[in-house]
Amino acid sequence: MMQNNVCSICRRVALWREGRNAHFVYEFERSILVVGDHQFHKGYCLLLLKEHVRELHELEGEVYLALSRELITAGRAVVETFGPWKMNYSCYGNQDPHIHWHLFPRYDSEPDHLQQPWLHAAVFKDHLIDEEAARALAARIRAHLPGA
Ligand SMILES: [Zn+2]
Repeated sequence: MMQNNVCSICRRVALWREGRNAHFVYEFERSILVVGDHQFHKGYCLLLLKEHVRELHELEGEVYLALSRELITAGRAVVETFGPWKMNYSCYGNQDPHIHWHLFPRYDSEPDHLQQPWLHAAVFKDHLIDEEAARALAARIRAHLPGA
């Protein structure tokens, strides 16, 4: 499986393989679900493709379909755990050119809940969580995934 030592997503996947990723929630066939570094949006997670691929259109059809199923399963677990008003899913890869999906639970208690989730990105760093909090959130979400 192709990995890239300078890619931050690859590093997070490698950390998980070494059993040292406190943010790890769940392993799927093609991806892993992790809790986000910040929790500005309570329950924010990322789905990281295990393999270093830059673009969705570079994936084989079967891999894309599997990843899509995994995204939906992950999103459903986040909804069951946190009961958000709405889910936002996004995939960019401009800063980290390795396919990963952002899963943002949105709450109608947010003053800007009708806007896109990056509106307050400048203050995400004020909502960083430590490893203990990450493990606790991961365990709550994992309880809603297959095999729990
Ligand atoms: Zn990578």
